[in-house]
Amino acid sequence: MRSLVLIGHGSHLNPESSAAVYAYADLLRQRGLFDEVVEGYWKEEPSLRQVLKTVRYTDVTVIPMFISEGYFTETVIPRELGLGHQGPVPPQGVARVIGGRTVRYTLPYGVHPRMSEVILARAREAYPAINADDTALIVLGHGTTRNENSSKIVHQNAERLREGGEFAEVHTFFLDQEPKVVGWRQQVKAKNVVLVPFFASEGWHTLETIPEDIGLTGEVTVFESDLEAEPGSQPDYAQTVYYSKPVGTHPAIAEVIIQLAEDAHGASAQGDVERGHQEAWNALLQLASDTLRLGEVIVRPVEGMFELRHALDEGKANEGLRTVVTPEGVGEQVRLDERGEYRPVHTLRSLARGWRAVLCERDLPRALHLLYPAVVEESYAHHHHALRCTPWAATARRQTGIYAKVQKATPQQVESVSNDVCGGCLKTRLWAGEALHQTFFSGVPGGIPCAEACTLLVAEMREEVTGKRGQGAVAAHD
Ligand code: SF4
Repeated sequence: MRSLVLIGHGSHLNPESSAAVYAYADLLRQRGLFDEVVEGYWKEEPSLRQVLKTVRYTDVTVIPMFISEGYFTETVIPRELGLGHQGPVPPQGVARVIGGRTVRYTLPYGVHPRMSEVILARAREAYPAINADDTALIVLGHGTTRNENSSKIVHQNAERLREGGEFAEVHTFFLDQEPKVVGWRQQVKAKNVVLVPFFASEGWHTLETIPEDIGLTGEVTVFESDLEAEPGSQPDYAQTVYYSKPVGTHPAIAEVIIQLAEDAHGASAQGDVERGHQEAWNALLQLASDTLRLGEVIVRPVEGMFELRHALDEGKANEGLRTVVTPEGVGEQVRLDERGEYRPVHTLRSLARGWRAVLCERDLPRALHLLYPAVVEESYAHHHHALRCTPWAATARRQTGIYAKVQKATPQQVESVSNDVCGGCLKTRLWAGEALHQTFFSGVPGGIPCAEACTLLVAEMREEVTGKRGQGAVAAHD
């Protein structure tokens, strides 16, 4: 029995950022390669610190859903998962035993050799008339001077495509390191140029910074010869640039991920159901077989199924409520509040009303996982005095990069920001020394422990320390 965990970046600001990871997780569930597929995020729930507690089996494969190796795949994800590994991940991955589970951490999907096929597919979409006499390909990466691994994969793909011989020239350019894409006309000679962004998703860079840096006006842009340009600085003839969509959103990426999962699957050993996990969910099903009040919802048995609804909709007629019948349907109800605002933390007291879910016993755990990620496992552990908490000082010390600044937060700042952020949350801050004597397992619906400050609070603390809190600056760094 094996669990697969897909790790995405996620966002505190909008639900679109994690949409692709959810979609790939669904696809892998349908393929049935693993007995369970679970998602985890850097900026959403379940967090990287929680996600391993939510998996059912002792044999776990973790795939980072990132386009290249770099800071997140080499530093942040291994650190937050507790892998005890930092730095480049070897081709065979990293395997560790964590909390009784064998965890295998793979390279990100973007470094799979089949990515060059995806680049080629994007290039053909943008310019079907590619030929080896007059067409150049530009593979455009983000790049960073902080980690040379993040550009390595762009060069490797370019090399493979050069060997394929379909283009007159193949170039690599970057946004944030040399060679920068702004200077492309000094190097590219062909009259037809296909530009493929090696990016995970459509967004700020692909829609704004790249077109602005180069002067693109749409999917096809003609750059006329500039008679006043310095000799040798660009060709003295017109060049046409065909701008493709980013590689990360191509449908063929699903096949790359399936291949990566299959390769990892082959390396896996047989695992068992993790005992603590099974006990927690057995206890929950036992409570739900009568009536369970959990956070803002009620779970109760109805004609051999389970019904979930907002506690404030308790007496409402079924006809007055939207009915959903799948865990994913529950996931859609809980991502936005009644005003349509995104809920980055699922235990914020802002669950929308007006819906009910009718689910079989098999689907109930996944629905509750989407409603309140990791809450069942952590509350059950707390109920049995087995939940380990991480004080603020330890969370702050672990932060790196732009978040390292939170180490400077004074105790007064920590208290004031957390009172503000956590005031609207159902959870009790054990990490700040608050006491929680009973959980929903002993009949207190809002009895949900918070073992460690969440990433939303860390981000808000950073804004406080840098004096930008309340200026919408979290958005810029999300
Ligand atoms: S840190 Fe605060 S807002 Fe975040 S989950 Fe815990 S209690 Fe809720």
